[in-house]
Amino acid sequence: MSTLEIVTLPNPVLRQRTHKVADFGPDFQKLVDDMIETMRAASGVGLAAPQIGQSLRMAVVENLPDEDEEGNELPGTRQLFVIVNPEIFWKSRETVDGIEGCLSIPGYLGEVERYEAIRVRGQDRHGKKMRLKLEGWTARIFQHEIDHLEGVLFIDKLTAPENFWTEEAYRAQFEEEEE
Ligand code: ZN
Repeated sequence: MSTLEIVTLPNPVLRQRTHKVADFGPDFQKLVDDMIETMRAASGVGLAAPQIGQSLRMAVVENLPDEDEEGNELPGTRQLFVIVNPEIFWKSRETVDGIEGCLSIPGYLGEVERYEAIRVRGQDRHGKKMRLKLEGWTARIFQHEIDHLEGVLFIDKLTAPENFWTEEAYRAQFEEEEE
């Protein structure tokens, strides 16, 4: 496995609609492994193929594990997803606002409204059909990654233009108030 270079704005590949994956052969399997390694190396929770310069309809997602009171990872709570040719076929009526960042827009955060729960259909890394029922933070990550496959970025969906900050400005404005 090897880590891949993550492309950032204004690279035009981030704005292109992606092609459906039809070939699940060895080259694709290597791409999936490399994307997982790249996501973990960047401490990301999701990575879509356009972010490594491949205009393909696939993404990897790894939700944050639950922790015990001492901050140790609880075994079995980290979940890795490889989703190929995904499509959201159901959305909850309820939506939630939350703060997002993106490995392709490093150093910035913004507030985005997402569906609280979604259902996704697509294929796994070997082409087998699958369906997922997702909620909360995992549903948010999936919506962010599936947007990437349409050339859509979180900065297109801010709850208001002013709800966009550098990481430093966000920390100065909000996190100190909590202490
Ligand atoms: Zn992103």
